[in-house]
Amino acid sequence: MQSSASFDSIPSLIHGEWQPGQSESQAQVYNPSTGQVIAQAPLCTAEQTASAVESAASALPAWSATPVVERARLMFRFLALMEQHFEELSALVTREHGKTLGESRAEVQRGVEMIEFASGVPSLMTGETLANIAPHVDAETVRHPAGVCVGITPYNFPIMVPLWMFPVALVCGNTFVLKPSEKVPLSVVRLGELLLEAGLPEGVLNIVHGNRTCVDTLIRHPQVDAISFVGSTPVAKHIYDTGTSHGKRVQAAGGAKNHLVIMPDADLDQSVKALAASAYGCAGQRCMAGSVAVAVGNAGDPLVDALCQHAGSMRVGPSDGKEDVDMGPLIRRDHLERVAGYLDIAVEDGAQVALDGRRQFEGDGFLLGPCVVDQVEPPMRIAREEVFGPVLSVIRVPDLPAALEVGRHCEFGNGASIFTSSGYAAREFKQHFNAGMIGINVGVPAPMAWFPFTGWNRSFFGDLHIQGKESIMFYTRQKMTLTRWFQSAADSHQDPVWKSSRSR
Ligand code: NAD
Repeated sequence: MQSSASFDSIPSLIHGEWQPGQSESQAQVYNPSTGQVIAQAPLCTAEQTASAVESAASALPAWSATPVVERARLMFRFLALMEQHFEELSALVTREHGKTLGESRAEVQRGVEMIEFASGVPSLMTGETLANIAPHVDAETVRHPAGVCVGITPYNFPIMVPLWMFPVALVCGNTFVLKPSEKVPLSVVRLGELLLEAGLPEGVLNIVHGNRTCVDTLIRHPQVDAISFVGSTPVAKHIYDTGTSHGKRVQAAGGAKNHLVIMPDADLDQSVKALAASAYGCAGQRCMAGSVAVAVGNAGDPLVDALCQHAGSMRVGPSDGKEDVDMGPLIRRDHLERVAGYLDIAVEDGAQVALDGRRQFEGDGFLLGPCVVDQVEPPMRIAREEVFGPVLSVIRVPDLPAALEVGRHCEFGNGASIFTSSGYAAREFKQHFNAGMIGINVGVPAPMAWFPFTGWNRSFFGDLHIQGKESIMFYTRQKMTLTRWFQSAADSHQDPVWKSSRSR
């Protein structure tokens, strides 16, 4: 079969067949390094989207009856293909997203780890038993698949975020409809091809391309049982509210505003490198990107100076096919303009731009250099809103309690890190900072596949998080059975669980 990398027009995968989208409208896929359109993704109509759900529903009985170890073996074969195509997949991510090749390799590696985790689901999916919970009565729980699951993913991790979802869901016995971001559909189509090559039966994974029409069909469809969403907070809230009001279980991860607290006793050199990697990695387009540096006590001046020097020397340029770039482009020109606009908003609000990344770059790529905004105060828009680009704000506070106070007023709650050599400060921070994922001298405290992605506040809507054991709980529902076998007709007249009086 033709590789997705060479498709001009991106197909959807429905019931094991690659089909063109049926709607008149299509999404343009860009190479952000060149600013050129590289493919079109014809969008699915509501009817076509519904047919993908019906395909998943028709595949469910046979797939959920397939022994779990066989479902896991499929993941081992998929894993081998992912390893084989590792470089090709990394290059594809860079081509349609713009992050550097090194960042794409790291993303594909994080995705591979999710498949490794999913391959181990059989030993994590076991139930519990308790013999003789009442006289001659045994109790047990067994995990069943949730049913038809839907995944809706953002543009910023074209491979990793889809792999947060469908490998675990499939090994748990569910069938799946995946709707990737229409900005980066190529990588997911390639994943679909590799999964089919690994031997996935038709209809078990379906891929649809689309926008709001497609999403709204998925989250309301009566045959959908569970929805996983990752994207911005307003859309996460919409998916959660609509999905749950239609009786589905929903996990919806939203946007973020992550704080990096630098104590006066921190190792300045190490901290600056970690802050720059956190704020400018993937051009700041990560939900775990450091967005606000909170400089404590006299840490502010040396930090801003060292940060501007370090960030100012980063090599910014087109990333496609290049190895010698530290930071690539943003996803689209309008996003670049929105991000750069925050520098003007910050100045209007009274902050100072200490490093301005707006400059002329060669070519038509969507490029913006690293930016540092100093003298930011918590009420300013740049301190409160998700910028999602290479802009690091600096808030100065007198002490650790004041730094904790900055976090307390944040509407988001994904990640936060402290840089310090004090165990006491680190422990206070870990205990009291208002965020669900904490780093201690770690710039991006994103959990690996085996731990849950525990966003708080308006960074997550739902109960069971993505990744780790919580994902297995999300993608399964439990059945409890009480068993009693009679020795003879004589001992059948009394119910040993619902006894009328307590025995002493
Ligand atoms: P987005 O919310 O614009 O889009 C996410 C998905 O929702 C896409 O598939 C898109 O097609 C769909 N969508 C967009 N608008 C919609 C609407 N009105 N109704 C229904 N569906 C809609 O997000 P994005 O710009 O692709 O990604 C960036 C965002 O994702 C950032 O806010 C980032 O913080 C967040 N993110 C969060 C996490 C996390 O784990 N919390 C991880 C990665 C990205």
